[in-house]
Amino acid sequence: MTSARNDQSVAAQSGERLTLPDEEGLLSLYYDGGRLPSPSGGFLMVLGVQPEVEGSGSVYLECTSSSLRYRMSVPKATRAERKKVRDLIDEGGDPECPRHRGQLLTRIRHDFACPKCGVRYAKAK
Ligand SMILES: [Zn+2]
Repeated sequence: MTSARNDQSVAAQSGERLTLPDEEGLLSLYYDGGRLPSPSGGFLMVLGVQPEVEGSGSVYLECTSSSLRYRMSVPKATRAERKKVRDLIDEGGDPECPRHRGQLLTRIRHDFACPKCGVRYAKAK
């Protein structure tokens, strides 16, 4: 008997990360700081955030009820977002994440990135 649930457990055990059915909806909840409902019931807990090479980010999540693990990809910064951050820096302010209200960007090597979405928004001088 193979059910979808069994396949998923095998994937979780072998260290693979599942993708989420409604990434876009979850992303907007995530930007708002809301709780993320898990596709298998319960909620998704953030395990870690990883900046990707091309400027986007990955958020690693674990379901609180099934312990299945997921990876949510966060799209890279748009031109408008980069400009907003650049302007903040030029004005001498602390750059904030254009998606997470009140979240300051942190310096990762030569870039300013958001610790919550892993996205790089500007070059650090
Ligand atoms: Zn962010």
